[in-house]
Amino acid sequence: ERGARDASRAQATASKSKARSADVSATGANLKEWNPKSWRQREALQQPNYENQAELEEALKVIANRPPLVFAGEARDLQEKLANAAAGNAFVLFGGDCAESFRDFTSDNVRDTYRVLLQMSVVLMYGSGVPVVKLGRMAGQFAKPRSEDLETIDGLSLPSYRGDNINSCEFTPEARRPDPSRLVKAYDQSCATLNLLRAFSNGGYAAMTRVSDWNLDFMENTERGSQYEDLAQRVDAAIDFMAACGIDETHPSMQETSFFTAHEALHLGYEESLTRLDSTTEEHYGCSAHFLWCGERTRQPEGAHMEYFRGISNPIGIKISDKSDGEGVVSLVKKLNPDNVPGRITLISRMGAAKLREHLPRLITAIEDAGLNVLWVTDPMHGNTIKTDNGFKTRPFEAVRDEIMAFFEVHEKMGTYPGGVHLEMTGQNVTECTGGIMDVSVSDLEKRYLTHCDPRLNASQAIELAFLMASELND
Ligand code: PEP
Ligand code: MN
Repeated sequence: ERGARDASRAQATASKSKARSADVSATGANLKEWNPKSWRQREALQQPNYENQAELEEALKVIANRPPLVFAGEARDLQEKLANAAAGNAFVLFGGDCAESFRDFTSDNVRDTYRVLLQMSVVLMYGSGVPVVKLGRMAGQFAKPRSEDLETIDGLSLPSYRGDNINSCEFTPEARRPDPSRLVKAYDQSCATLNLLRAFSNGGYAAMTRVSDWNLDFMENTERGSQYEDLAQRVDAAIDFMAACGIDETHPSMQETSFFTAHEALHLGYEESLTRLDSTTEEHYGCSAHFLWCGERTRQPEGAHMEYFRGISNPIGIKISDKSDGEGVVSLVKKLNPDNVPGRITLISRMGAAKLREHLPRLITAIEDAGLNVLWVTDPMHGNTIKTDNGFKTRPFEAVRDEIMAFFEVHEKMGTYPGGVHLEMTGQNVTECTGGIMDVSVSDLEKRYLTHCDPRLNASQAIELAFLMASELND
């Protein structure tokens, strides 16, 4: 009888693996029709209108001959870490500019954003008790989707600003003309940024003792501030405790950290020219960043962006809003991840707190019912953008905080894991989002409003959010 059971088990396993290999070859067959250029057969939204296509192809050829910015093995390492987060064993922090710019590129700016991200991750790690996976919207976050192709001021219509890799934001015909040579300049800036980030991560800058060298002046003299101060002291005490246990400053875990890059893969020509075949797996990777995401405006199932995304093996993100329907999201996820590989898909919701409470549960149910592996991340920025009477695009800190709290609440209720947060932020002391402990007011906005696109949290607002999340995760 035992033999019969073994035999039937062996048969079941064989037929399961046959089914699996049939699935895999079905994907393989599909992928045969895919190549880094196959998106060109589809309609590509949000692409610039270049006057001279030959000039564009020339620039893309230059980039295709440059080295990849990231390596396939690094993207696989990230995918494993994201799978770990999806399973509830890590938390993911995305942060950086809405749009990187040529004007504001300095090593100090890169360092300051990196430093704030590290500080946030230490606070979050302490609060959540799990590792924090860090991803910068850096070293490639240039191209922006726009709601209008043209911008009209005083009767003059010019192409909208689409990011520094496309055109320039001054409102003159020359500045707004899409210029392909900007793509090469953006590649070079990404390369220099990534070089610096790699040096910071591995060269001792990430030393834990230095990260907790807080600049907490902003916390003085308020009740909320003293709560954060208290938490900061506990983080410091934990680091001292590790040192007392013998994990001293020279231990690699105190000196180094993994840091990954991410951006919206919007400009498909640029992404195509950095798509490379990995010799160890024979799979294609988008080598412009470790993680690429598809924005809310370009995820049409038959569109060019989805065609590009389906063929690269990086971990990828899809932004979703209150308008997304469960069935549509399920079918997109299946199309992009037919083998249901954990860590491959991150769903990044951006809806505002009220809509999130109303709509996220049905999207979670749809994904859970379909048995799909995804990592859930909240982007509490893009559902909370408002325009003030004095003409600034801003986001109230309190709305950002509320959306994060709603995200935690909904997942708690649904029994799923709130795996991370995606923020537009900078290490600089800008005045772009209102509120927070420093209480940036609407009339303060004009003081240091430097963003090239959407408003970012400043350093103190970003760290404050990390403290708020840490207290929530610690409960
Ligand atoms: C962004 O992340 O800057 C962005 C444009 O997001 P979304 O596509 O969600 O609007
Ligand atoms: Mn943005």
